[in-house]
Order: sequence, then C-alpha cells, then structure tokens
Amino acid sequence: MTESEFQLQQMAYSIGQARGCAPDTELPEAVEEMTYTHTEDSFMETMPTHGPSDCTVSILASGSSGNATYIRWGNTRILIDAGISYRRIEQGLRQVQCTVADLDAVFLTHEHSDHTAGLPVLLKRSHMPIYTTRDTWQAIGKKIDDYSDRFVRLPRRVSLKDVQVIPFAISHDAARPVGYALRCGDSKVTVATDLGYISRDVELAAAHADILILEANHDEQMVREGPYPYCLQARILGQKGHLSNKTAAAFLARLPRKQGMKVLLAHRSAKNNSPACTVQTVREVLHDAGMVMGQDIIIRLACQSGQVRFQDKE
Ligand SMILES: [Zn+2]
Ligand SMILES: [Zn+2]
Repeated sequence: MTESEFQLQQMAYSIGQARGCAPDTELPEAVEEMTYTHTEDSFMETMPTHGPSDCTVSILASGSSGNATYIRWGNTRILIDAGISYRRIEQGLRQVQCTVADLDAVFLTHEHSDHTAGLPVLLKRSHMPIYTTRDTWQAIGKKIDDYSDRFVRLPRRVSLKDVQVIPFAISHDAARPVGYALRCGDSKVTVATDLGYISRDVELAAAHADILILEANHDEQMVREGPYPYCLQARILGQKGHLSNKTAAAFLARLPRKQGMKVLLAHRSAKNNSPACTVQTVREVLHDAGMVMGQDIIIRLACQSGQVRFQDKE
C-alpha cells in the first residue's frame, strides 16, 4: 500500500468513525513510519477552495497543569490536546457555543499528562476520531486500550472539510511529539508548544501565520534560582524541554510575518515565570529589533485556566 492509499483509507475510516458507522475493515497497519519533517512547500500549497475566513482560536487551558485548544474555522471544529478534565473541556466549549459532539476530531501533540489527562473520559463520552502519532498513542498506555478503534495514525496532512491540518516534528522529551499548522485559504494558524528549541520545521510552520500559539514557558534565571532540583532544571532548559521567554521573543523578532500577526504566548510555567516577566522580556527583545508590541505584532498571554480567545477577523 502506498502512503497516499494509506492516507485515503485512513480518511475514509475517520469519516466513518465521525459519522458513527463502524467501518467494515480494521484500520490497516501502516507500511512504514511516517515522518513529519517538511520543506517550505509543505505549508504553502494552495487550497482547492476559497474556504471560510472566520476563525476562532480559544485556549481552554494552558500550562503544566493542563492544555487544550479549540479551533473553529468555518464549520470545522477541532480540539488540540485534552489535558484537562472532561467537565472543563465541556465548560470551555460551551463558552464558544460548541459541544463535544460538535467536534470533528481531536489532535494530540504528545502523551504527557498535561496534554492527555482528560482523554480517557473524552473517549468514553464521544465518538470523534483521535489523530496522533502511533508512538504517542502507544505511550499513553493502558488507560485508552479499549479505544484503539478511535485512533487514527497521523498522516502528513489531514483534510477536514475546508481545513487542512499539517503536523510537524518538534523537539521534546516525548515518544514522537508534533505541533500543528492549520491552513484554510490563504490563512494559517499554528500551534507550537513544548519545544526544546526552534527547529527548522517550527520556523516553517510558524512563518506568515495569521495566528500563532507559541510557547513562552519560563524565565531562564528563575529556573536556575528556583525550587526545582538540578535534574529537572536541566530537563526544562535542555534541547528536549521547554522554550524560554527570551528564545520565544527572539524567534518572534526574526520570524517572517504578516502585518498584525496575532500571537498567543502559551504553556507558561507557574513556578518559573510570571505574566509581567513574559511581557517585559518580549517587549524588550522586540524593541531591540525595532518592533512595537501591539502594533507590529499583537500579543496575548494564555492563562493556566480560563479562556483566551483570538478571532482572526476582529
Ligand atoms: Zn510535554
Ligand atoms: Zn506540556
């Protein structure tokens, strides 16, 4: 089976799942391991339709105690990660006039519990397909064993109505973690958190995004002087850990971008960061690069709990 045949079969399978009708055949085993590295063209391909331009990105929760992001584009509705309880997911969706039953799919970035804690109950009470890498699905472990029919191995590109979802590899201490770029028409929304460093794939995925969810996890000095033991400090600061305020800000300063690009800074550490520290660092780095925060680039901070919304057309 070729990769495109495999993708078609997976797509048919996931549509069947979403409609609640069980497919006749078992989900096929993949012939080879998928890669999620890209060239510039991966994120530039033109879309076949004029797709809807109204897009809502709503971070339901962000940080080490749980992550979940809702994205609606036209009538396509997806959830990225399910790291909070089913009840909180329901509540968060209700605030944006959505229900769990309305979701077309859930996409997981990686298996850490701050991204998957709510998954078992979500699986129990819903029917939508769960897209992720096979390594991630396996790493989540026994608690989702009963739901393997809901797993759809992530292809290099997923089409959901007018929206295309393109996973890209990230560097993080997980089995096979990914970020996601969503494209619709000429617009792009990118979700990039849990980053040990900014790889070429992250750069390509984030360039010219209309809305970017970017990790600004910690202040390096606060990590070094903070309460964590040395091994945990090394993990956070390492190449498979998390992105600092300063690295995130420097990335924003050099990123090829559209005027008025909107950035949601996310996955902020409760112990090694503060909203004021993040804002100050980003403002300083952008200023040094001749940019004005709020003018050249619109920035908001995601909260650990409670919603932060961004509307593409506002
Ligand atoms: Zn993680
Ligand atoms: Zn995380």
